[in-house]
Amino acid sequence: MTVIYPEAECWFLTGSQSLYGPETLGKVAEQSQRLVEQLNAAGLPARVTWKPVLIDSAGIQRMCHEANGDPRCIGVIVWMHTFSPAKAWIAGLLELRKPLLHLHTQANLSLPWSTIDMDFMNLNQAAHGDREFGYMAARLGLRRKIVVGHVSDPSVHGEIETWQRAAAGYHDLRTARFARFGDTMRNVAVTDGDRVEAQIHLGTAIETYGVWDLAQAVSEVSEGDVDKLCAEYADCYELAPELLRGGERHESLRYAARLELGLRAFLHDGGFAGFTTSFEDLGPLRQLPGIAVQRLMYDGFGFGAEGDWKTALLVRAAKTMARGRSRGTSFMEDYTYHLGPGDQLILGAHMLEVCPSLTSQRPRCEIHPLLMGNREDPVRLVFTADPGPAVVAGLCDMGDHLRMVANTIDLVEPPEPLPRLPVARALWRPRPDLRTSARRWIAAGGPHHTVLSAALSTRELQDFADMAEVEFIVVDGDTAGPTT
Ligand code: MN
Repeated sequence: MTVIYPEAECWFLTGSQSLYGPETLGKVAEQSQRLVEQLNAAGLPARVTWKPVLIDSAGIQRMCHEANGDPRCIGVIVWMHTFSPAKAWIAGLLELRKPLLHLHTQANLSLPWSTIDMDFMNLNQAAHGDREFGYMAARLGLRRKIVVGHVSDPSVHGEIETWQRAAAGYHDLRTARFARFGDTMRNVAVTDGDRVEAQIHLGTAIETYGVWDLAQAVSEVSEGDVDKLCAEYADCYELAPELLRGGERHESLRYAARLELGLRAFLHDGGFAGFTTSFEDLGPLRQLPGIAVQRLMYDGFGFGAEGDWKTALLVRAAKTMARGRSRGTSFMEDYTYHLGPGDQLILGAHMLEVCPSLTSQRPRCEIHPLLMGNREDPVRLVFTADPGPAVVAGLCDMGDHLRMVANTIDLVEPPEPLPRLPVARALWRPRPDLRTSARRWIAAGGPHHTVLSAALSTRELQDFADMAEVEFIVVDGDTAGPTT
């Protein structure tokens, strides 16, 4: 079975103690190995790696150190097969730095009513062994996910998958570097924030470069590479006639391609996982990057406009969490409303920068003026996001902590064509309704820049926020939301 994150593994730690003797410990090892085999046969996105049964404090501490030090380990799953006195876990848990999932399960699905005896009882006592562990984890105030059920239960697989996806997104950000070209937009509040605090919680280094550094990379692109990329544009998209080779604005397409190649080279050479741009700070660049940003997002890079590095991080994390799922994920902005008649809707877009992963249609590639900035008309992909369930989420800096606000939504088809709207867009009905959603979002101080993902739910975002110690506020049909 192919895993989604072949570079990653989750370690499976089984707790027991020496009291039971070698024969019982042999059975514990055998049963926990079988349980790991079942998990690995369940189609989880990351492989689960069985580790030898832990019976004392020194062994547990050593294992936690090894997990911390192994870059492939994105998280640790623990199960107290028998009774593992939890004082033995204190030293290890105090030092464990990887996301923790407590799987509260047992080897057997059913009780063997006619044969059950005290040997069976003593071998299968996770029901209280895991409670002993739970006490210690709670006493230590550990962030962890608790999953309850038998490993044959698809809902258990689903919960572990959600956690693994969140762990993969979190793990990726922990070693990621982002490039900011220029600063945040002048006078804007929510896109600003404490990058040191963000690095403490999310691990990501956010480094500023002058746009002239990018311009240098753009100037070094060869004409031959520009030719090739323009041909790729013609293959992948419905090119406006004026942009075609021989068309009167083909030179603008060539410049857009040059911009993409320069940006891509800069990000590749610096090992960056994402970036921000600023229309107020374009230096010698002739166009605001449009199609370049759209295609880089499509390839998994995080992006935030107007210097919005927090949303860039969230887009990257969401892209990583959504890997292998068919529906898309993009940078987004609440733009304007349809307040009636009929369903109240949000029309989301940005000046240019919406990821084409949101559509299954062939995007059009067009050129139009941009009111903002004082540059040449930028080339962009134009399309409408596919209908279906999705989530929007935004990250904001509340001064003393980071907060994520998320809203479940339903993307819908526009009731009428939008022939004069020259940008990529998404139209959605927020849950439970626009009035409740917008009121709660605004009450929570949620940002206007978001990530929109049709490949994730609030569950992955919740697990991710828990791992990063980010406050999480969800607005959907079932939740009361903030009352302030
Ligand atoms: Mn914006």
